Amino acid sequence: MVTSPVPDLRIAAANDCELRPDGSHVLYWMNGARRPHHNFALDRAIEHARSLGKPLIVLEALRCGYQWASDRFHRFILEGMRANAAAFEGSSVRYYPYVEPAEGAGKGLVEALAADACVVIADDFPCFFLPRANAAAAARVPCLMELVDSNGLLPMRAPGDKVFARAVDLRRWLQRNIAPHLTDQPRKNPLARLELPRARIARSITDRWPAATSRMLAASPGALAELPIDHSVTPVERVTGGPVAGSRRLREFVDDALSRYEDDRNHPDRRGGSELAPWLHFGHVSVHEVFERLAKVHDWTTDALGPTKNGSRDGFWNMNPAADGFLDELVTWRELGLNFCSRRPDYDQYESLPAWAQRTLTDHESDVREHLYTYEQFDEARTHDEVWNAAQRQLRAEGRIHNYLRMVWGKMILAWTPSPQIALEILIDLNNRYALDGRNPNSYSGIFWVLGRYDRAWGPERPVFGKIRFMSPERTKAKVRMREYLARFGPESQYES
Ligand SMILES: Cc1cc2nc3c(=O)[nH]c(=O)nc-3n(C[C@H](O)[C@H](O)[C@H](O)COP(=O)(O)OP(=O)(O)OC[C@H]3O[C@@H](n4cnc5c(N)ncnc54)[C@H](O)[C@@H]3O)c2cc1C
Repeated sequence: MVTSPVPDLRIAAANDCELRPDGSHVLYWMNGARRPHHNFALDRAIEHARSLGKPLIVLEALRCGYQWASDRFHRFILEGMRANAAAFEGSSVRYYPYVEPAEGAGKGLVEALAADACVVIADDFPCFFLPRANAAAAARVPCLMELVDSNGLLPMRAPGDKVFARAVDLRRWLQRNIAPHLTDQPRKNPLARLELPRARIARSITDRWPAATSRMLAASPGALAELPIDHSVTPVERVTGGPVAGSRRLREFVDDALSRYEDDRNHPDRRGGSELAPWLHFGHVSVHEVFERLAKVHDWTTDALGPTKNGSRDGFWNMNPAADGFLDELVTWRELGLNFCSRRPDYDQYESLPAWAQRTLTDHESDVREHLYTYEQFDEARTHDEVWNAAQRQLRAEGRIHNYLRMVWGKMILAWTPSPQIALEILIDLNNRYALDGRNPNSYSGIFWVLGRYDRAWGPERPVFGKIRFMSPERTKAKVRMREYLARFGPESQYES
């Protein structure tokens, strides 16, 4: 067996099969952490391959039949696959990119590549269709399949079966328990000086599931047009997917904007956030890479961790106020969603809301709504409110909504729909259809936060919202700077649908 550099807490057997030392290769199905570095699953696959003296095949596949598949997400993922192909080129790992030309065409590929494998490794991502896809493959492959968790600074299994109800609860737990995990880092350059035997992939496999062509990996409009995906959700210009582009954005943010994070983040007219969410979502950028960069520029080590243990936001990371504020989003808030999704298969169901929130929403279900809109009116940014419409136009055009406005955008969907259940359906659909970072644990944290998850009851009790926290476009306009934003995404803008 391998002595693993990957912490045991991050590895889970997905089936009861044995590792087969007499197999011909190790297979890593890179289906969540789509990057060639800072990736515990790749490290684990390499360790198996080295200890067995076998080749390593990395399969990165792109389905076309998943819900909301569109030109926007395909191009972002394909840009990543192209960068990954270049990163593996010249290494002793065989990288196999596959793009499904028709729904279901990729069925059987993992099994075929696993037929003679010693062991299969896949990414342990707790959301969207991935848990189901992993379980289905684990039941069909003839050898041991391991799931490896590269998601957070904290291994998802570290808190046992605890589900944290509020950010402060996880923050307190992190302050008491995260320190030993901070020194467990995935490798920065796992391919450097790696020598493994070359892998061969049988003709029967390459004929039936041919590797993606360079035209497809270039995500040319012609190549995308041939795929049965939603072409009306178009790629976002000036945003490039992939680990290389993601690392570039990370450097830009840390070097140029991080110091202003606390002051600028809430103002739509300033570029205050990292905008890393899409790369984090597709696994192009790892939280470990981000953390490593922050630690380096702040000359920080774990010795600097402060004594705070009560869940307060201040006095724990001790890099500086801006970096500490950013880490609270990146670690506490991001990992709150990982914790929930990995333990609650009902994470996307209305009934997963806390009991107090369901009660107060039910109490106010028959309240008169000042405005009511259909899905189409929301989708086409045709409400009476210029702030809401601008946020929706930004979502459609750029695949994101400014962080502060995203909260108001969500709250108003609750205000302007006939019931909280309908609001939830619309929120999930619009967010996941258009947002590059959608379909992620954070998507469900944010959407369900609108309806009370991770929050407490607020007074005074209001129509429709009951005790759910209220936000409004009017108050937002008074509070944050958004004149340029409103002009940019206003009715006269190029983004009018
Ligand atoms: C209705 C609603 C829907 C949302 N949907 C998504 C979604 O689909 N995907 C998504 O990643 N986030 C979502 N969020 C959370 C948040 O809006 C985004 O993470 C943030 O705006 C991303 O911008 P950034 O990368 O510049 O964040 P930064 O401020 O730079 O933060 C760094 C990272 O921390 C994480 N983060 C930041 N804020 C939050 C938060 N409130 N909750 C959880 N993680 C956070 C993200 O990974 C983010 O990239 C949603 C919030 C709301 C209210």
